[in-house]
Amino acid sequence: MKQIASESSTIVILDRGEELHESLLTFARESGLRSAWLSGLGGAMHATLGFYDIENKAYTWKEFDRPLEIISLTGNLTLVSGEPFWHVHGVFSGPDFQAMSGHVKSLVIGLTGELHVTPLSAPLPRTFDDTTGLKLIG
Ligand code: ZN
Repeated sequence: MKQIASESSTIVILDRGEELHESLLTFARESGLRSAWLSGLGGAMHATLGFYDIENKAYTWKEFDRPLEIISLTGNLTLVSGEPFWHVHGVFSGPDFQAMSGHVKSLVIGLTGELHVTPLSAPLPRTFDDTTGLKLIG
């Protein structure tokens, strides 16, 4: 993982084999970041994506164990019980140019990960919401 600081944000470059959430947690802890917004692109070799079924209050997971273009990642960093928590969604494609997308549970970089992290000045605490069964900002 490499970091390139700019005026108000940081470009985080991930290398082949690095896992997105692990790398982002390391980045947040080492930089003292508490809240941020994320965008990104690149290439992956493994992804586990989820769809949240609100009726059953559970995710359906699907694994993609093959090269994928990372078309777009968007996410945020919040605090859950005082600890950094990254929430990331993504759109991906394969050689058939069909898009697949979802809540990103795991993403292993295959080529590169080019991430843009913009720190926010306001903390974004997440707390458990009974209605959805999720930890929501609020
Ligand atoms: Zn999500």
